[in-house]
Amino acid sequence: MIDLTIHEALEKLKSGEISATELTRAYLDRIEKYGDELNCYITRTPERALTDAAAADERYANGTARPLDGIPIGMKDLFATRGIRTTAASHILENFVPEYESTVSQKFINSGSVLLGKTNLDEFAMGTFSKTSYFGAPVNPWQMEKRLTAGGSSGGSTSAVAAGLCMGATGTDTGGSIRFPSAITGLVGMKPTYGLCSRWGCVAFASSLDTPGPIARTVDDVALMLSVMAGHDEKDSTSESAGFDAHTPLDAILGDGKKLRVGVIRELNDVKISDDMKKLFNDRINDLKSLGAEIVEVSIPNILDALAAYYIIAPAEASSNLARYDGMRYGLRVEGVDLIDTYKKTRAAGFGTEVQRRMIIGTAVLSSESYEVYFMQAARVRRMIADSFNAAFKQCDLIVCPTSSGTALPLDSDLTPLEYYALDMFTVAMNLAGIPACSVPAGLAQNGLPLGMQVVGPRFDDLRVMQLAKHIEQFAGIDNRPTKIMGK
Ligand code: GLN
Repeated sequence: MIDLTIHEALEKLKSGEISATELTRAYLDRIEKYGDELNCYITRTPERALTDAAAADERYANGTARPLDGIPIGMKDLFATRGIRTTAASHILENFVPEYESTVSQKFINSGSVLLGKTNLDEFAMGTFSKTSYFGAPVNPWQMEKRLTAGGSSGGSTSAVAAGLCMGATGTDTGGSIRFPSAITGLVGMKPTYGLCSRWGCVAFASSLDTPGPIARTVDDVALMLSVMAGHDEKDSTSESAGFDAHTPLDAILGDGKKLRVGVIRELNDVKISDDMKKLFNDRINDLKSLGAEIVEVSIPNILDALAAYYIIAPAEASSNLARYDGMRYGLRVEGVDLIDTYKKTRAAGFGTEVQRRMIIGTAVLSSESYEVYFMQAARVRRMIADSFNAAFKQCDLIVCPTSSGTALPLDSDLTPLEYYALDMFTVAMNLAGIPACSVPAGLAQNGLPLGMQVVGPRFDDLRVMQLAKHIEQFAGIDNRPTKIMGK
């Protein structure tokens, strides 16, 4: 049962061949077996899962089944879940139990899905290997003996989906946190248009960039999950009314004489990537050509400055968002001799090194002497990148580019902070521009590990992004069945 896709499982649930309770038990057993080793869940919710499953079975029996009824999922531990601990992988929220439900997790409840638990991540989603988690890093189920990273920040979600410890999971993508981990675990990860999914109740990192989205094994499954997650929310003023409907399978947009202009970004040609990534990317481009796609070179002149702009804007917003963790209202509190001392002790004990680094950078770039030269300059670069993408989308319908330069690295790789930041090279520009980008498997590298590539589109062209991603998925044809990649 573990190898079923969400679509396949829904068929079997509808026909009565399997029950939601059986399916859920299969996942709970597997979590029991491999959960500790993979460290992909911070909090497991088996009782809740069985209650959800029983309710789903009842709805199947009386003909009132919902879109994801009985599908076991993982929820990134950044989404507040009422009555269930929500930690953001931080010591400062280690024992925080929200009294409210995030909009996205509520939508999953409404869809009938089964909650297996809260998945691991980088502390406050700041990181690329999920190593900044207070609870330790999750492990990539591919070639497990090598203890590779499952990526970050949504690394618990990708580890869990790839290993068959849930059928799909939520992620959030501020600078690549859905796409990078999905790429190096052989999964599909969709960063929707900014504003398509509500951020309400999701622990804030950088509010103008944070984008909730789905992670699953196939493009169709991701589309189905996104249709559940998307939609306007009056509690998030940046959420838009554009819905997303993918209850039906995605249509092909290539072949049948349909003309599609696919852009490649000239400036990225100069970025050093592995030979494997280069080859797979070119192979997939040739595949698209064979179906009649026209490949056009487009220019995003400032794309190489996206990293620098991102690592100013994201920390600036984070330093403001994280000011609320002061030990007064919720979360950890370490008593000091007076109020200021309590703040200092609480925050020093509660936040990890990377989070502290970001808050210091953020505070520095927002200080009066740096504001104009750093923050405003980064804001201008951001505007130029967004404008360049808009101009490029006049020359082409969609853009493709790699998701990362290479395959998953070992968790014990000793990289400097700047080397970690550089790994976001291919992903941050889409967050700055607020445009949709889907990472889809491009194939396997020589070392047997998966690599991904992105399909990028204009704002609210999420559906077409996934349609092209589906073509690439079919050409790449990698086998990401959990029991196959784990060998058990
Ligand atoms: N790796 C990036 C960072 O550390 C992206 C994180 C994210 O998208 N949440 O900020």
